[in-house]
Amino acid sequence: MPFFPVAVRRLAALSTLALLAAGSPAGADWHRDARDIMGTRITVEFWIEPGMNAPRCGDAVMAEMRRIDAAMSPFRDDSELSRVNREAADRPVPVSAELFDLLERARQISVLSGGAFDVTFASVGYLYDYRQRRQPSEKEISRRLDRIDYRLIELDPQARTVRFAKPGVRIDLGGIAKGHAVDRGIRILRDCGVRSGLVTAGGDSRILGDRHRRPWMIGIRDPRQRDHVVVALPLSDTAVSTSGDYERFFIANGERVHHIIHPGTGRSARGVRSATVLGPDATTTDALSTTVFVLGTQRGLALIDRLPGIDAVLIDANGRLQYSSGLMPPAAKPGKPAQD
Ligand code: AMP
Ligand code: MG
Repeated sequence: MPFFPVAVRRLAALSTLALLAAGSPAGADWHRDARDIMGTRITVEFWIEPGMNAPRCGDAVMAEMRRIDAAMSPFRDDSELSRVNREAADRPVPVSAELFDLLERARQISVLSGGAFDVTFASVGYLYDYRQRRQPSEKEISRRLDRIDYRLIELDPQARTVRFAKPGVRIDLGGIAKGHAVDRGIRILRDCGVRSGLVTAGGDSRILGDRHRRPWMIGIRDPRQRDHVVVALPLSDTAVSTSGDYERFFIANGERVHHIIHPGTGRSARGVRSATVLGPDATTTDALSTTVFVLGTQRGLALIDRLPGIDAVLIDANGRLQYSSGLMPPAAKPGKPAQD
């Protein structure tokens, strides 16, 4: 995966801030669009190749986002996901190949992470409402906590069905579906002939090629100061996802109650403020950013260092940057903590 060493990060941060301030390079040669879909901001940006029907390609990406939202949203009663949640405790529910494959991918990440990533977090997670500042009581959590266990999801590849081993299990793909949608968007752009492009869904992005003979600059936001970028990464042909405790949260009794749930406690995961993961595809980086957030700095970075082609940048509970060993300048290896 192409990335620049950490030593250039200050320079990179400066150029990104400049980019943010000045906007992207002007010209009719770029197609740019932004919409609110899937409860988040979707952006599509690509260099228009000669003869390309750019609006049609851009619209096709947005339509794909709407399609995936309609199938996988837990907030729509008529989504395929909601049907599974309603029926899978009673009987095996036949599902689309797309949903089945994503559930299999989610299971792989659960196994890899020892259950830190677990889509059944929703068995308790559905009781949180971040807008209404509502969180479950200890009693409500303890009554349901044993329903958080990915092994309760039975996947039958022959019949292509999903079944829950117990009543009360719920799933939510919020930690992986946006990455999947970004990957689908990139595939559409590639089929359209795009060679330089970017698709972003909230904290999940994937870059196709370079930014027309320059790297794309992806900034990692300061978790405590909106609009501040703490580090910018010059990237090409890669996916990057950030999970943060600042996206959906409220403060109750001095504690930050946010949307990434520790499967062992049913409460917001503690230990890092944001976790950014770089890798070949956005489905993987999306799931792994949520995973690393739950695992925390030590275990999270240890996991990333075991995975070839994957890197991570964490902002820990003290606001310090921590890098996986693949991003450390050679002098800092081994074992020296990265300092900012
Ligand atoms: P992200 O912003 O990619 O980290 O995704 C956060 C979303 O992942 C949350 O809004 C939940 O929908 C979902 N989620 C929260 N906790 C977990 C968990 N432990 N495992 C899997 N998904 C989770
Ligand atoms: Mg994620």
